[in-house]
Amino acid sequence: MKIVLLGTGGYFPTKQRHTACFMLPEAGIVLDAGTGMCEIGKYLQTDYLHVYLSHAHLDHIVGLTYLLNLVPQPVLAKTTIHGEAEKLAAVRDHLFAPAVFPVNAAFRFQPLCNPVPLPLGGTLTYFPLAHPGGSLGFRLDWPGRSLAYVTDTTAAVGAPYIESIRGVDLLLHEAYFPNDSDNLAQVTGHSALDAVAALAADVKPKRLIIVHVDPNREAVPPLDLRAARRVFAPLEIGEDADVICF
Ligand SMILES: [Zn+2]
Ligand SMILES: [Zn+2]
Repeated sequence: MKIVLLGTGGYFPTKQRHTACFMLPEAGIVLDAGTGMCEIGKYLQTDYLHVYLSHAHLDHIVGLTYLLNLVPQPVLAKTTIHGEAEKLAAVRDHLFAPAVFPVNAAFRFQPLCNPVPLPLGGTLTYFPLAHPGGSLGFRLDWPGRSLAYVTDTTAAVGAPYIESIRGVDLLLHEAYFPNDSDNLAQVTGHSALDAVAALAADVKPKRLIIVHVDPNREAVPPLDLRAARRVFAPLEIGEDADVICF
């Protein structure tokens, strides 16, 4: 199974990073719908799409408005947007309000209910994350392979979601802040890199890929990884257009 990192940045897009969007082309699955959604046409392999929203902050939903011009009409007619009921209502009532976007949402909205069957025999489970307004983490399992996506929350050893992601093959986890930013991370509902590494040392994914990076950090890499890699060696920074096999 492959996942394409279409948007590895948080908050606003830059030349290096779109905002949150990740696609599993073989399964027709998209995790979050940030500005990275604009690349989706290049990778489309299915005649349907299932889009799972972690929450409804703009950097995770604005790309839903791009779909109308990127995906053939028959695929749009078989596209479902999944999320918490109140977040879906906010998307439908506000993002697709005529004063904000001129075309009606053509797709189905489906409130999440654990566990969610996935194409190709997989299962998605979701779990709540602490974040202003709330966010959801996702775990996707297929026989012999698993992936977890955790964004817009504050990582900590002992965080309530740890058991939901234990032992996954691939963990995509946000780290908006560098090391020693625990206070800032708490206040904003985001994660500091050292806290993510410490959490990963407990959860033990085979690979950890950092996403939802602060767009103001244009250095390469955008965060100093040395200390975090001493805590959890298989840690990488995700870059837009990376294709990750798991
Ligand atoms: Zn965000
Ligand atoms: Zn958010």
